[in-house]
Amino acid sequence: MHDFWDLLASRHPVMTAYVFVLGACIGSFANACAYRIPREIGLSDERSFCPLCGARIQWFHNIPIFSWFWLRGRCASCGGRISALYPVIELMGGVLFALLYVRHGLPIAAAYWVLTGMLLVGMRTDIEWQIIPDRVTLGGFATGVGFSAALPGMHGAVGAVAGIKEAVIGAIICGVALYMVAWLGTRMLKKDAMGLGDVKLMLCFGAFLGWQGGIFSAMAGSVIGAVVGIVFLWASGRKWGSFMAIPFGPPLMLGAWLWLLGGREAWNAYLSDAPELSFLLAP
Ligand SMILES: [Zn+2]
Repeated sequence: MHDFWDLLASRHPVMTAYVFVLGACIGSFANACAYRIPREIGLSDERSFCPLCGARIQWFHNIPIFSWFWLRGRCASCGGRISALYPVIELMGGVLFALLYVRHGLPIAAAYWVLTGMLLVGMRTDIEWQIIPDRVTLGGFATGVGFSAALPGMHGAVGAVAGIKEAVIGAIICGVALYMVAWLGTRMLKKDAMGLGDVKLMLCFGAFLGWQGGIFSAMAGSVIGAVVGIVFLWASGRKWGSFMAIPFGPPLMLGAWLWLLGGREAWNAYLSDAPELSFLLAP
């Protein structure tokens, strides 16, 4: 067993492949959570079932990523179409887990795995229901504070108290910043520009990424959201007014993953040339 942990810490390619499979399985679980939480079905109530006919899914038809393609996106029992979001979320889980593992190593990557699992749930519910459950946003905030105490190195801090302080300050700054943007947008556009779920999501980002990471995620997310929104409107031929109906959570989440996979270094490299901006540097 000791050898296994040594190997896991080594970021050996075999372990990276193992982590990919783990991430795909977590993605599969995130799909189940995203299906059950908005419908208020318990997570442990029943085994996997088809969302269309309710038939139990055999284990060999429930292999992440692979089964959806093997069954050509259809249920093995009723033949009904199964959302392409299933393999997309599973693939994202596998790829993100592997990249975070290679970039950060253990134990810090484990904190980001937990964040990723939660965000995948919120990503799917935001796409399908335009909601991000409190269990993801506020639960993510609490989890982020907990990890910051256990692994203060996430924030470049030393000691549990310093880690908690970074997480809480990060959450406050990010939450207030996005709340102000939402408030301003609502006044200017005379309708809800942003859901409160997005503001709560920023509490989670601040706790896990620190305030610089949260602000970066919001800025990168705005750019990603605008580009995706324009392409979507252009491709679908819808009116500009429907732009506001596009959920903002998924682009914010992409911004957060971008921060963890090189955005932080890019942000610091960009700011390091200007001494008057040194207070913005991420530790
Ligand atoms: Zn079915």
